[in-house]
Amino acid sequence: MDWDRPHIRWLNSIWDQQNTRFFSGQLPAPVFSPHAPRVAAAGGAVLCPGPPAGPLVWIDPGWVMQPGRTPEGTTRLAADLILHEQVHVFTWAEGTSHGPSFASKCSEIGATLGLPPVTPATCRTWPVSLRAPGFYGLTPSVSR
Ligand SMILES: [Zn+2]
Repeated sequence: MDWDRPHIRWLNSIWDQQNTRFFSGQLPAPVFSPHAPRVAAAGGAVLCPGPPAGPLVWIDPGWVMQPGRTPEGTTRLAADLILHEQVHVFTWAEGTSHGPSFASKCSEIGATLGLPPVTPATCRTWPVSLRAPGFYGLTPSVSR
């Protein structure tokens, strides 16, 4: 499954809204890809050498656009997957994937979303694993 142009615009608008809300607009514009450059997971982010240098963010369309998911749930899942990758981009300078800076920023944002602080066990799946059952319009499945 691939992302089409309207979906890419949709993902970019989510990125922009969350960039303004949680990162003071500091994050560079991303390039979205449906293709994982590394291990299979729901999403990921890598730093492109460029030019233009910037984040390459991949989100698995097959997971987000899963049949049976409500439209609201679909948007919520895309937004949360993007948010996780945005924290990675925000903390890239530290060079850690799910390190102390990452956890700290997740907890800071999570507090504004009514989520508990992250732990080593929830860091890798934040914020998806901390949402209430049914939040994404389907039974949550964060094991993949
Ligand atoms: Zn991560």
